[in-house]
Formats: sequence, C-alpha cells, structure tokens
Amino acid sequence: MSACCANETQPTVASSDTCPLCGSRGVRVEPVTLKALLVSDALRRGIPPAPPRFCATPECSVVYFDSAVGATFTEADVSVPVYSKQKSAPDVPVCYCFEITRRMVRAEAERGGGRNPRRAESIAK
Ligand SMILES: [Zn+2]
Repeated sequence: MSACCANETQPTVASSDTCPLCGSRGVRVEPVTLKALLVSDALRRGIPPAPPRFCATPECSVVYFDSAVGATFTEADVSVPVYSKQKSAPDVPVCYCFEITRRMVRAEAERGGGRNPRRAESIAK
C-alpha cells in the first residue's frame, strides 16, 4: 500500500490541555507564573513539573491546572484577582506588570486618551 492510501489519524488534544472543570483548552504558562502568583498554601501542594495551563473561562473557578497530574488551582489559590474571571470588577488588573486596572483604562478612555491622535503618536514613538 502506498503512503497516499495510509489511514491517517488526526492528532488528538492531550487530556492535560483541557480544563478538568469546564473542558476548555487551556493556554500553557510557565511554572514560574504559578510560583509568583499562588498563595503559600497552594504552593505547599506543589507546582506541576510540566508547564501548567491557564483556564480563561469566566464562569469556571479553575485558574491553573495540569490534568495529567490532577493538579488544579482556583481563584482562592491565586494572590491577585484574575482578569478573565472577573469581567465587571473595576479594580482587577488588566496589566499585572504595571498594575493598570480596568478602572484606569476606562478613566483614560473617558478623557479621550484612547482616541487622541497626538497621544497615539507619542505612544507609537
Ligand atoms: Zn475551566
């Protein structure tokens, strides 16, 4: 049989890619992210050896997981509010590096900062 007639199998999504609670595919994050953001009780449970996944589903309480080893971390295990889990909270960080919150972005937009061409030019430089 030639290779063109071979029964090709579709690649399957590894079970560790999907959130054990909501079934959404999680985005891979570096373990250092968990080391920086988990509360001490959650850190004591241990960080998965492989890069864990982030679940962005707003209605799901799981934030980080590794289904392969059965590890899950919820919002209660994280030391900061999680943007994608709290869609309407004004003081949830949009940018964790610079501590920019949703309220700060809205205030800037109300001042016209987001639509000001001069400001856009200064940012682009
Ligand atoms: Zn989930």
